[in-house]
Amino acid sequence: MKTYLKLFCWIILFSSYTAYGQDVSGTLLPTIAVDSLLNHIKILSSDEFEGRGTGQQGEKLTTDYLVNKYKELGLKPTLENGFLQEFIIRSSYLDEGEEKLTFGNFSFHSPTSFARSSFNYRFQSKLDLIYSSNQEDYQNKSLIRNNLIVIYVNDSLSNLPTILQEFADNGAQGVLFVYEKRKDYQKRKNDTYKILKKDGTSNLRFLVLHTFASAGIISNRLMQKDKFTLPIKLKLLKTNLIISNNVIGILEGKGADKEYLIVCGHYDHLGKIGRRIYNGADDNASGISVLLEVARAIQKLKESGFQLDRSIVFIGFGAEEIGLLGSKHYVDHPIFPLAKTKAVFNMDMVGRAKKDKHGAELYLIGSPKVVEVTTAIAQTHHKNLRINLAYNNPETDIHQFKSRSDQHYFLEKKVPAIFLFTGTHSDYHKTDDDWEKINLESLQEISQLLLKSVVYFSKAANN
Ligand SMILES: [Zn+2]
Repeated sequence: MKTYLKLFCWIILFSSYTAYGQDVSGTLLPTIAVDSLLNHIKILSSDEFEGRGTGQQGEKLTTDYLVNKYKELGLKPTLENGFLQEFIIRSSYLDEGEEKLTFGNFSFHSPTSFARSSFNYRFQSKLDLIYSSNQEDYQNKSLIRNNLIVIYVNDSLSNLPTILQEFADNGAQGVLFVYEKRKDYQKRKNDTYKILKKDGTSNLRFLVLHTFASAGIISNRLMQKDKFTLPIKLKLLKTNLIISNNVIGILEGKGADKEYLIVCGHYDHLGKIGRRIYNGADDNASGISVLLEVARAIQKLKESGFQLDRSIVFIGFGAEEIGLLGSKHYVDHPIFPLAKTKAVFNMDMVGRAKKDKHGAELYLIGSPKVVEVTTAIAQTHHKNLRINLAYNNPETDIHQFKSRSDQHYFLEKKVPAIFLFTGTHSDYHKTDDDWEKINLESLQEISQLLLKSVVYFSKAANN
């Protein structure tokens, strides 16, 4: 009797989902428990997990946690290493007390010609030096990400902290100021050093280098060209290899087409730096908690007789914070064909929805169809959520959020993707991003919305 009733409900559910909306009752889908969401966040953002820093002990605890949860939830492993997709990061490490770095013919000494944030950080040792006389080129996130940006200073430069912050937020590894005048050079390098050195006020993980315009190769290039890209290799005192992992599990679909959906989020955060622990409750324990609970809900659906056409792949990505490295690795070495991957649902910072009388704000960013469907479902069934598409257009989004989380490389490969995001806040990349500040009610609502959208796209007919 129960089974028949359920089957009947499914038919209603999917006939109305076909028009994504009207009178789909959310009650037909499993309810995601607030307590379970909170529990994951509390554990992942506890001091014991030390901010889940790539290459640190907290990362190991986190991947163990995910593996155990995947097993408990009945996800299937698909790799030789079970749930773990290993990748290697060649990382350079500039430690306190390391005061010289070189590239090409250049040598920089701290603090006279380079500055850095007060804590240890990692960056790529191979990068491109990017210069353009057209400032708008520097808005191009994929151009500057993971590279060193040349800023030619021929007049006094105001707003230094803002400039540095913007480049850091957009994924640059650092900037190289090239000064026309010696007096600017003297003044600026000290200013910069102070900005970065002040413990606790800077969250820049960033190199700032200074040189004169008269210094050889760079000035020659600056004189000759409006733009240039120069591959360089930084030589540092320490370079090491870090092994990181994406955590991948699957709920298999039965469809003849062997198609896939990916539900993902990054599990890493900034880690422990000195004595400070960056707990990262919103960024991104929130996204991982939603991933796990949506997996639980879909598993329940399967058990109750619901047929998944498409397989659903759950991925906790590693090393996002140091350059989207886990998702880049996956896209370069996909376990399931990208051409058969019909939609990617990425969550990064979904726990701090801001509320006003029109509801709690959720940004949706991504490919047209999946954004359209998810928006329609929200507007019909989650009226407490206020969908904001302001960041969906990279032409107008000065923050370039579309390319700043793990959906980026999928979108580059034309894999449809959506990024769910509740916006930045004053605790972003600070030690105060703690679980007490999570907006649980909205997190639960977002989970239910995601569940509906994933279930909609799990049907072979829905593209
Ligand atoms: Zn994040």
